[in-house]
Amino acid sequence: MLKFLPLGGAGEIGANCYYLRLNDIGIILDCGMHPQKTGLESLPKFDLLKDKPTDYVLISHAHQDHLNALPFLIKQFPHLKIITTPQTRAVAELTLNNSISILKSQVKEKEFEIYLREEVDLLIKSIDYKSYNEKFILDSLNSRSETVAEFFDAGHIIGSAGILLKHTEQNIFFTGDINLSSQTLLPGAVLPSEKIDILITESTYAATDSSKLNSWEKETERFTSSINNVINRGGSILIPVFALGKLQEILATIWLQMQKNKIAAVDIYTGGLGNKINRIYDYNRYVTNRNEKELTLHDIPQKELSGVTDYDDLFRYPSIVLVSSGMMIRSTNSYILAKHWLQKKDSAIFTVGYMDPTTPGYIISKARSGDKIQLNENERKIEIKCDIKNFRFSAHSRREELLSIVKKLNPGKIILVHGDAESIDWMGASVLKQFPGRKVFAAENFKEIEFD
Ligand SMILES: [Zn+2]
Repeated sequence: MLKFLPLGGAGEIGANCYYLRLNDIGIILDCGMHPQKTGLESLPKFDLLKDKPTDYVLISHAHQDHLNALPFLIKQFPHLKIITTPQTRAVAELTLNNSISILKSQVKEKEFEIYLREEVDLLIKSIDYKSYNEKFILDSLNSRSETVAEFFDAGHIIGSAGILLKHTEQNIFFTGDINLSSQTLLPGAVLPSEKIDILITESTYAATDSSKLNSWEKETERFTSSINNVINRGGSILIPVFALGKLQEILATIWLQMQKNKIAAVDIYTGGLGNKINRIYDYNRYVTNRNEKELTLHDIPQKELSGVTDYDDLFRYPSIVLVSSGMMIRSTNSYILAKHWLQKKDSAIFTVGYMDPTTPGYIISKARSGDKIQLNENERKIEIKCDIKNFRFSAHSRREELLSIVKKLNPGKIILVHGDAESIDWMGASVLKQFPGRKVFAAENFKEIEFD
């Protein structure tokens, strides 16, 4: 018996969490929190797990939408065994602790009990960690058959993994978030060499026309010359980034360009959680696949943003400010700073990644100098004086790469998750056209798919 049930993250990029039943073993793949929702609404539907066997949680990587609901799951199902890569475990310790204060500021619901620091400590200690390409066995007390699991480097962020499960005659591969192309620090993903029977794949960029996306190198050139334009006129640049993944890649990109004298040596400001995550990138640079192994992020000269008491200091001399959140969510540092930046004529805001249409980052990324924008209902309109430019440094596979994964792994059945309706449609139609005879399932939240 083989069943697949999404508890969130099907037909959307949200609280990614999928229940997989392999005969008598129950495995939960990822346990994310919806980044744009709060309280109970932001969690996967754990109630659907009642009366089902639940043995393991395997986490593909430490982004919020794949990890952050884990403490809530463990509260309800304390017997679950958690397995991640060592790097995901290290990052999870930082991000889960960091999210406690954010949750406290967001949530007022009585029935939504926020976890404690001590609970995170216990949870992290209980995580069993397995390196890439180290096979491990999943079994349960009453199981008659065993499952062999293996993590493959997914090339998305530090510690990210695709998950291979070999169960009786079936090979199942879950991509997690996967990037086949190289970034500045992380090389592209490694795929299993065996034939896969069931592929569970993300579809984030399936609706995005790749001809509109530059290669990482081309985008780096455009980014470099745009930074120089702003510096040359005496302006400062605000770059909103996710603290996990994007900060490290963009910081390394800027520093390497400065080393080659392609970007003028100006002050770089960073701060907060991202700096702690930099350490994990540094510690693991010889342990996992990595470009620029000699580069340590900690040694890049950076000024601490929390030490800035007067924001005018950031504009006195040209500077580059890398700060979270990546989508300029309300009351985050990047949101607060963006409101200062919007008023500064010679300065610029550069966006470097995807913006959800419901976020202030989306409003800013679509606006240009001279426009009047309102970031929140309760706030007055702001006339934009700064320059706004959008760049795309993607940590996800392009749509042709997603299809190349199908080609290489040659699965008979494909389950599409982690994408909006348009992306799932494009993937489904393209797979059926290029690989006739395959079975494609557009997964729907809370609806079980059964395989024979
Ligand atoms: Zn991710």
